Amino acid sequence: MKIDGKTRFAGVIGWPVNHSLSPVIHNHWCKKYGIDAVYLPLPVQPENLSEVIPALAKMGCVGVNLTIPHKELVLPLIDAVDDVALRVGAVNTIDFKSGKYWGYNTDAYGFWHNIEENTRDLRKDTALVIGAGGAARAVVCALHDAGFQHILIMNRTREKAEILCKLSSQAKVIEWDIATNALEKADFIVNTTSLGMKGEQPLTLALEKCKDNCLVTDIVYTPIATPLLQQAEERGLATINGLGMLLYQAQKAFHHWFGILPDVDETLRRLVLIKE
Ligand code: NAP
Repeated sequence: MKIDGKTRFAGVIGWPVNHSLSPVIHNHWCKKYGIDAVYLPLPVQPENLSEVIPALAKMGCVGVNLTIPHKELVLPLIDAVDDVALRVGAVNTIDFKSGKYWGYNTDAYGFWHNIEENTRDLRKDTALVIGAGGAARAVVCALHDAGFQHILIMNRTREKAEILCKLSSQAKVIEWDIATNALEKADFIVNTTSLGMKGEQPLTLALEKCKDNCLVTDIVYTPIATPLLQQAEERGLATINGLGMLLYQAQKAFHHWFGILPDVDETLRRLVLIKE
């Protein structure tokens, strides 16, 4: 592509950031839709964030995504945040429109859109959420907004589950127990822990207890087929992997910056899988 004085830029701020798949996704869309812009990985140490954000705005940056460890740290620097970012307590997208810093959280949209796109007739009675880290906050908000009657949360560190529970009137903390009886009740199981990621221990649940129509999803996407999803498939349960959440949160961010809701198509999925 031709880069000149008119080329705009966006990027992802993280520390570290070299693992991020966002440049592949957004640069693919810029090319596909003929947008004269590039998307860069921007390694920024946490102590430099408050200087970097205004500097990027002054340089004409279109907007940025934020990843670990910046999503919560950036909140005090933002002029206006959307309702989801406020509830989740984290911003993963900034738009530098009209001289202001607009903060959004597109993770909840990404999570739920991925589920809606891939399932029909999901019973919205009981969801079991495993984990209570940053990503779990967006998941619980999304499940609440989707209308789940019961959101059961279990986390190795119970205190973090108690804090997460405050995000939804439908949420309740249960003991960390991988053979939990909650598995019998669950219509939907969501792993939000980092268990199952490359280099981490697997998450193994007593899935034989589950209802036959229970849906299992894992937001971990490295690898795409996590041990939990493999175990669920062997048990004959429907599964949805975490790649879609990544792609749909990016879709919404791209829309904020460029006004186009880009396609999440097979070409993009293949590109990301090659990079992964
Ligand atoms: P985080 O804030 O660090 O939270 C990590 C969670 O995993 C906590 O609940 C933690 O429990 C739990 N955990 C870690 N090691 C454990 C172990 N050995 N046994 C039991 N629980 C353990 O991380 P995050 O930002 O929420 O991300 C979590 C995962 O989601 C990562 O794999 C990340 O890549 C993925 N993710 C995917 C997407 C997507 O778009 N698909 C988006 C965001 C995140 P404690 O509270 O007890 O420490």
